[in-house]
Amino acid sequence: MRALVIDDSKVMRSILCNMLKKLGYETTEAGDGKAALELLGPPGQFDLAMVDWNMPEMNGFEFLLAVRADPERADLRIVMVTTETETYQMTRALAAGANEYVMKPFSREVLAEKLSLLLATAAV
Ligand SMILES: [Mg+2]
Repeated sequence: MRALVIDDSKVMRSILCNMLKKLGYETTEAGDGKAALELLGPPGQFDLAMVDWNMPEMNGFEFLLAVRADPERADLRIVMVTTETETYQMTRALAAGANEYVMKPFSREVLAEKLSLLLATAAV
């Protein structure tokens, strides 16, 4: 399983990458949505994208819209990583094609549970 971790905070990226590695993922990091789009590569290269909301250049919502505009990338599972003050935005993100969201701060256990549900759905 390959995950793309997109966040403008280097600290947040390493926390997330460490959690994901412990869950068996290979991880790649991007500092904003634009850099992430450039790293995506051919459809199928990544199984999962963990996406911060607030970022320079291209924010998480804009990244989500760009990916969901491409039907060939429908299999990429997108998890929005949000703070409590942004939760009202999550309805909009889910309507735009995000698969799940997690609220910061979260434990590895919470992340593992969300991802296992998500990937069980993906496998059907
Ligand atoms: Mg941010």
